[in-house]
Amino acid sequence: MICLFGGTFDPIHLGHLHAALSVCDALDVPQIRLILSARPSHRTAPGASIAQRWEMLKLACASDQRLVPDDREMRRSAPSFTVDTLAEIRGENPGEPLVWVIGSDAFALLASWYRWEQVLELCHLVVLNRPGHPLTLEPRLKALMARAQTTAIADLHEQSAGRILVLERDMEQVSAEAIRKALSQGAEVAHLLPAAVDTYIRTHRLYGA
Ligand code: ATP
Repeated sequence: MICLFGGTFDPIHLGHLHAALSVCDALDVPQIRLILSARPSHRTAPGASIAQRWEMLKLACASDQRLVPDDREMRRSAPSFTVDTLAEIRGENPGEPLVWVIGSDAFALLASWYRWEQVLELCHLVVLNRPGHPLTLEPRLKALMARAQTTAIADLHEQSAGRILVLERDMEQVSAEAIRKALSQGAEVAHLLPAAVDTYIRTHRLYGA
């Protein structure tokens, strides 16, 4: 099984790391790949450059060998469409279960993604219940859930794609947006970041720090 966790990581924070490690633990996998969404198509421009976000991702992943930074979306010049990334990884790993990990806030917007209907043909989805983002789903996603949801982790190991599992684990109430805002106001955020990332942000004076 290959687990993938994509994000803008602007910056990567302890909520991301806790989520990634919870997935490794729950799904009993030795590693999870953190894929930098280099050129996100669906949001305003990130506060840090691609190179800076990648440096922070590498620093954060160095804290635990289960966390593997993945730069494949950086190497494409086109916008970072998840479906393209999934198709590429599927091509490299035919038949292998693929899991895309996604927070409940991002999952709620799935139907706005480029070629979203193909996502479940390529992978499973593991949805993380972020505090403050209850799973209120629009009709298309409700229908998708009705077809694809499972509560059995074994299904994710036995099939290569097509199932949705909502992970029953508590996530941390941390967001990159709140961290950027706090930094721009001179507030303390060290407790929300891997120590090396906090140092990097202050050294490079990112986000108005
Ligand atoms: P922003 O606040 O800038 O939108 P973010 O904190 O949501 O950023 P992203 O890089 O956009 O971080 O998120 C990458 C993925 O991680 C998304 O699927 C998102 O839902 C998930 N995620 C972010 N923070 C958490 C958290 N605290 N717990 C669980 N999942 C999270």
